[in-house]
Amino acid sequence: MTRKAYDRRNFLIDGAKATVAVGVTSGIVGSVLQSCATTKAKGGVASKAWSPSFEQSALPYGWDALEPVIDKETMSIHFTKHAATYAKNLKEAMEAEKVDASGTNILQVLSNISSYSPKMRNNCGGHYNHEFFWRSMIGGGAALTEGRLRSAIDKDFGSVDAMKAKFEDAAKGRFGSGWAWLMLDQKGVLQIGSTPNQDNPLMNISEIKGTPLLAIDVWEHAYYLKYQNRRADYVKNWWNVVNWKEVVARYEAAI
Ligand code: MN
Repeated sequence: MTRKAYDRRNFLIDGAKATVAVGVTSGIVGSVLQSCATTKAKGGVASKAWSPSFEQSALPYGWDALEPVIDKETMSIHFTKHAATYAKNLKEAMEAEKVDASGTNILQVLSNISSYSPKMRNNCGGHYNHEFFWRSMIGGGAALTEGRLRSAIDKDFGSVDAMKAKFEDAAKGRFGSGWAWLMLDQKGVLQIGSTPNQDNPLMNISEIKGTPLLAIDVWEHAYYLKYQNRRADYVKNWWNVVNWKEVVARYEAAI
């Protein structure tokens, strides 16, 4: 399939998925479903209608868009090899475990992941996490402006710098492979934590739970070509490509 046809196919998939029904579930999954389905979040802040599906959707920018923070080669291998493999293996697991993509939302599978195989856990998580990660970034970054998320960060962490320091500690402190997250817990409080492997805070087996707002991939495949063993440098530089506009939209939809 050509890149153009691929983009068009994913555009159509995204459009169709954006009409997903809301109100069928409650709690974290419900709020995430709602955040994905709405084009105008609560509080009047327009949000992108990104809907996580079982399919890998087109990268929303070019391979070199995140240079010099994340190099072109890392992005291309990460997307076309690593992330594409999670999506492919997810499809296999769904076939084997009789999960019907047309009648099930990926968020429902994640929230009930203990009922499925380790293959489903690793690849459904891997697929969702990467789709979420790509959209957490944008070339040149997008600033965190004054508003409700900024106020909540000040309230829950003391300052933006304190939040960043805690997030970096979570990212650096994750032994081996995994992810660090900024999320909103069920009490409406911002939390930071990390998950091993391809787990995420939407999974019922996760030690940390909440609606994901921001995530960084700290698997070596995400940074090794440019940073080798220097995970701390990758995490520090990564703030320069964070798409706070998207994070704000996620937060506004979740509260
Ligand atoms: Mn990865």
